[in-house]
Amino acid sequence: MQNTIDVDAELKDDHVLVQSVYLSNDPAQRFWIYTPYKAYGGRVPVGHDVPARGIGKVLKSKSSKYKQGDYIYTTLNWSQYSIVDANGKGTWKLDTTTVPLTKAPLHYHISLLGFATLTAAIGILKVAQVSEYDTGLSYLVTGAAGAVGNMVVQLASNVFKARKVYATAGGPEKVKFVESLAPNVVGIDYKDPNFKQNFANAVGDDEIDVFFDNVGGDLFEYALEFIKSRGTVVACGQISTYKDKKPRPFYGLQLMLSKRIKFQGFIVTDYVQEIPLVQKKIIGYFEQGKIKNNATIIDARGDNIAKVPQAWHGLFEGTNKGKLITQLSDE
Ligand code: NDP
Repeated sequence: MQNTIDVDAELKDDHVLVQSVYLSNDPAQRFWIYTPYKAYGGRVPVGHDVPARGIGKVLKSKSSKYKQGDYIYTTLNWSQYSIVDANGKGTWKLDTTTVPLTKAPLHYHISLLGFATLTAAIGILKVAQVSEYDTGLSYLVTGAAGAVGNMVVQLASNVFKARKVYATAGGPEKVKFVESLAPNVVGIDYKDPNFKQNFANAVGDDEIDVFFDNVGGDLFEYALEFIKSRGTVVACGQISTYKDKKPRPFYGLQLMLSKRIKFQGFIVTDYVQEIPLVQKKIIGYFEQGKIKNNATIIDARGDNIAKVPQAWHGLFEGTNKGKLITQLSDE
């Protein structure tokens, strides 16, 4: 519980005072706050600050690791200042000299190089175990206009040379956006009343090799019908269920069994050792023009800090294209 911080107070050893610059908005924060399921991660008790991954600027330091003026990637709060344990897991100094990011905006370190892109890349490379030689596969990506989804679409098409990428997103504008990301992408609007028919028409006789699912729920169950026998489901997220008050039933098991579908859930932090290597790959793909960074930034500087919860809610209303970021102060 850190509601108010005295920025002039003496710091404890190995702690730093950090000003929040950019906050990452993540659907997972929903179940940190509330979930009817037994889920990973801690709970945020009522009255405590809501944590958020983000980029902060070190204002004062009592750590040999970080000095005043450094930018760090760490767990902050929905607040302008935080006191951070310099030895805490998942805290590191941003390498702002990484080429080609030297001239890129600072937020690229939570958009292009942050957990969403890492989740997309790790989901394909490590969970589906697709290699760069496995070209010509067919992919289905749900939540395709979001932070993870837009990267899966670009990687599948431009790096893994997909035969087709079927990409679901909410509304005609988002469908246009996902189709603009890469070649061979067929966008399908899951909010359209004729969604099921449109989806079936789009897929036709094709069979999906890899289903990268970000949304779960009815859409997930429906889409299982189109997965190839012995195909793979990368179970990344379930955003359509995060507001449920009680666990929902799942009717897809018989289909999964009879089709021998391989279903693998994962949490990106399971692969923390792989992060430096995967980030290197991501920078390479970016340099080669195979992936572009997409982000929506909400200005919550100064008095606009009151917008922080509302900005985060945008994830559930689909306000974002690519990574949804809140800016709390100037770089
Ligand atoms: P997004 O940027 O994708 O934001 C959420 C998007 O989800 C919205 O823009 C909206 O797009 C879509 N959406 C919201 N409600 C629904 C709904 N009811 N049905 C279908 N789509 C919906 O978030 P992220 O990319 O950060 O996360 C995507 C998923 O990946 C989440 O489920 C998240 O929990 C998961 N995740 C998992 C990780 C892991 O380690 N396994 C790590 C990071 C994220 P639209 O306008 O198209 O509806």
